[in-house]
Amino acid sequence: MIPLDIEAAQKGSLRQLADDLFWARFDLPFRLNHINLYMLATAEGWVLIDTGLNNDITAQHWQALLTGPLAGKPVCQIIVTHHHVDHIGYAGPLAALTGAQVYTSAAEAEHAKWLYALAGEDFGNLLAETYHRYGLPVQTVKAARTDGSRYRRNTASLPEFRLLRAGDEIKTFAGSWRVRTDKGHSDAQISLMDRERGLFLSVDFLLPRISPNISADIRDPDFDLLSAYFTYLEEMIELPADMQIFPGHDWPFRNGGVRAQQLIDHHNHRLDLLSAAAQKAPLTVWSAMDELFGRTFGDHEMYFASGEARVHLNHLVSVGRLHKRCDDRGIDIFKAQDVVTA
Ligand SMILES: [Zn+2]
Repeated sequence: MIPLDIEAAQKGSLRQLADDLFWARFDLPFRLNHINLYMLATAEGWVLIDTGLNNDITAQHWQALLTGPLAGKPVCQIIVTHHHVDHIGYAGPLAALTGAQVYTSAAEAEHAKWLYALAGEDFGNLLAETYHRYGLPVQTVKAARTDGSRYRRNTASLPEFRLLRAGDEIKTFAGSWRVRTDKGHSDAQISLMDRERGLFLSVDFLLPRISPNISADIRDPDFDLLSAYFTYLEEMIELPADMQIFPGHDWPFRNGGVRAQQLIDHHNHRLDLLSAAAQKAPLTVWSAMDELFGRTFGDHEMYFASGEARVHLNHLVSVGRLHKRCDDRGIDIFKAQDVVTA
């Protein structure tokens, strides 16, 4: 997508995007090397939207903002859009620093608490079992078992959450932002739309450059999350072309409907690739990863790539194009449906 002509602000300062909307870009130590955080100016004070990963770089960046451009008004509310570490990681310390209440959706709060409660050993065992089911190499399964919790590594102890629901509104002096919750990239991500002014904080569900990661959940690896994401994208096709969209990564853009259609096509292409491959030989998640990505992975990428491959296989099962069975080693095998002839 073509970026809007708005540059990200330098570290420690904000870029104004609308009368009541501001943008900061925080560094991340991943291949996706930044996250966009947003702030709304309201009569009661600042509403902070997402918090960054729990590390020193995030702490320093928040310190610079809270003593700099945000210093004039109190922080009255923190919204965590979803439970992923780059959005929720620093929520606890930020709540302590500002005294503000933290809000998220019920499903995101539940998922965060469940993940955070898993000790390193339990997380490792669950991931190793999942990787085994996926047919990943033995050394990958072994490494996962002793690697501890990737969630706790990047997330400070969680704050108390208050709940936001779809349809709730956040009023500012300039407009009214309506809460949506959607399932796909996560369980019930909060996004905010001011339809009247044509502004949409889409966070991680509609991104201009990369395709949002849609991954099977390690506690429910059979679930067809892609169906939910397709439902979201079908709705997004109808977005007004001139609506400004503010995503969780990369840059602000327009033509959200075009982007939604591109993402539908992208996932359908992946589904077709896997379906065609399964006609030749049954697939595991590992061999599906080869079909989709055709390259080797680091640990961080392994987690997302295997989840992504699995979710596409799950969707093919739920629409009847593949069926799944577990072999005698405990590995899930996906086979093309046998053609029934009369
Ligand atoms: Zn995310």
